[in-house]
Amino acid sequence: MGRTFFVGGNWKCNGTREEVKKIVSTLNAGEVPSQDVVEVVVSPPYVFLSLVKGLLRPEFHIAAQNCWVKKGGAFTGEVSAEMLVNLGIPWVILGHSERRLILNESNDACICPLIPYIFSFQFVGDKVVYALSQGLKVIACVGETLEQRESGSTMEVVAAQTKAIAERVSNWANVVLAYEPVWAIGTGKVATPAQAQEPNTERDCKEGIFVDLVEINYIEGQVACYVTQPIEKLGTLGSVQVYLDIGLSHLSLEKGGDMPSHVVHFELRKWLQANTSPEVAATTRIIYGGSVSGANCKELAAQPDVDGFLVGGASLKPEFIDIIKSAE
Ligand code: PGA
Repeated sequence: MGRTFFVGGNWKCNGTREEVKKIVSTLNAGEVPSQDVVEVVVSPPYVFLSLVKGLLRPEFHIAAQNCWVKKGGAFTGEVSAEMLVNLGIPWVILGHSERRLILNESNDACICPLIPYIFSFQFVGDKVVYALSQGLKVIACVGETLEQRESGSTMEVVAAQTKAIAERVSNWANVVLAYEPVWAIGTGKVATPAQAQEPNTERDCKEGIFVDLVEINYIEGQVACYVTQPIEKLGTLGSVQVYLDIGLSHLSLEKGGDMPSHVVHFELRKWLQANTSPEVAATTRIIYGGSVSGANCKELAAQPDVDGFLVGGASLKPEFIDIIKSAE
């Protein structure tokens, strides 16, 4: 039940016909690992879906960047899940933070005052459910803003966003969860793990003391942490704080300002385990998005709970091939 590495390229609102053809020919020429090692999905703007479908190498797949929450009809400007299926597009990205923040797509119930009996829905969750019901596969995005991260509510936010989806989805086979911290998208600030430092005070981690976290590693479900120095109480550190329950083998994260991305992945998987099923937690791919590049992808891909990437800016460039190769 391995989780095949997944690399998505989100082209957002970019490109002309000529540029799109150029990107596709670079992708087609790239030497990449086989499909059993990495699943590749690119997501052009709607207007280029057919063009890309006609040109792209067959082992790469295509995603739309959004679709309507219900069956199509009198919804000017929208594109329905049925249309994507009709066009032979297998995937769709839903709940991207740019849509959540700029277009107000949310977890909350949204009731249209004019025709409430039609428009009483919870936007992102209902979109995911409807797209799945029509046979689309979904890349569902979650992620906290900088403000939320700094206030220590990262897990609370991503858990609430995931819950809004999990409450409605019973079959996770066609869902990839994309953790994309908003502050890392398009900013060049990658949520890399904290830099490893010499674990020379590891022996000082005794039961019942708080420590300043430098780096934590998850090894076969166990947690080891490297620390600078033990401290007596919580409250003064800008970094994530941990409480060691039993030696180095168990820890629980306290609220903190600087939770490395792979910790969020680990926590999200734990959340899935507790709120869906162990099988869903073990098999659902949790991918990372936010300033992924050819330069940083290998380090991120090495994290055990990072099952791939959703790539924006770099997916328009030849380095996307290097990112695909990080699956190896
Ligand atoms: P970025 O975008 O790689 O340009 O940061 C990622 C995304 O928005 O999916």
